[in-house]
Amino acid sequence: MPDRTPLFAANWKMHKTVEETESFLDDFLSNPPDPVADVVICPPYLSLGPAIARCADTPVGVAAQNMHEEQEGAFTGEVSAPMLVELGVDGVILGHSERRQYFAETDEALARKVPAALAADLEPILCVGESEEARDAGETEEVLERQLQADLSGLEAGQIENVVIAYEPIWAIGTGRTATPEQAQEVCAFIRDVLRARGGAADRVRILYGGSVKPANAAELLALPDVDGALVGGASLDAEDFAAIIEAAD
Ligand code: PEP
Repeated sequence: MPDRTPLFAANWKMHKTVEETESFLDDFLSNPPDPVADVVICPPYLSLGPAIARCADTPVGVAAQNMHEEQEGAFTGEVSAPMLVELGVDGVILGHSERRQYFAETDEALARKVPAALAADLEPILCVGESEEARDAGETEEVLERQLQADLSGLEAGQIENVVIAYEPIWAIGTGRTATPEQAQEVCAFIRDVLRARGGAADRVRILYGGSVKPANAAELLALPDVDGALVGGASLDAEDFAAIIEAAD
């Protein structure tokens, strides 16, 4: 099986001003993370440029939390992949459940955003996950298969390995509830099976777990064979906690 470099992404959502971003990075970069893992910070748009400047010549990358699928046009308030790349952004979170829930992000838009990100040379981190109702109804796999097939429908099989998938059960995001290691492994292995069935090099795809990851539960989640890192929300706002999560992967 190919080695997959673990990836840790800090999703700050709508937290931290530019000043707070710089202060976080001063702390975080004073004790640089383990070089065997890839680490990206995903701050609000306004902090992308300052974060890129602070992370220059360090192993830490910077990713955006969203982008529009078109390159330019009459889309007030939106930002495109080429604009992010011009700034020096490395990747982009796509399809986060908060964007699906509060901003009507559709699978149709994601089917265009994922290839648009790749075409611009941004690494997409595509989020998928089931609601609590879907899990209780035994529909977790159905929901995930539907999201994956729809959101990746614009890609050739050979492009799948360039996409990062983040499994984020909605009921675990920002709730303090975490999937058990059994649940996380079962779903991440299922995601890999779906990717394999689409004809992609599924063993090369990095699959992250996200949902209330913190220093206390990181080690058991990151030891799972199909979990290749974490997408971290709340706990990534604290430099020490985020560093502790990354260290837990060792
Ligand atoms: C997220 O927003 O992607 C997330 C996983 O949040 P939290 O870690 O706070 O649950």
